[in-house]
Amino acid sequence: MGKKVLIVDDAAFMRMMLKDILTKNDFEIVGEAENGKLGVAAYQKFKPDIVTMDITMPEMNGIDAVKAIKALDASAKVVMVSAMGQQPMVIEAIQAGANDFIVKPFQPERVIEAISKVLA
Ligand SMILES: [Mg+2]
Repeated sequence: MGKKVLIVDDAAFMRMMLKDILTKNDFEIVGEAENGKLGVAAYQKFKPDIVTMDITMPEMNGIDAVKAIKALDASAKVVMVSAMGQQPMVIEAIQAGANDFIVKPFQPERVIEAISKVLA
């Protein structure tokens, strides 16, 4: 069975892009959330193998959401989804426990490579 992924991003289009790339590569999307707060709740509910986490979101940003998820589950695996120019925030997220990052616009091979490596 495919590994379970939770997609957290406030942009429906970005969630759709990721979902498309991941499902074509045998991952199972167990949940989607549109902000960090809902993402943390979805993590508890769906217990995914890995989370893709956008950085800039309303309610709770991706960095705070990583901190909250890591506080709940120290072994949680999270890949940050960043845009160009967000390097300082990516570094902060990695320091908070995120395992890797991918950059928008998505390159499907890079998305799969990053997620597979973190799950390995
Ligand atoms: Mg965003």
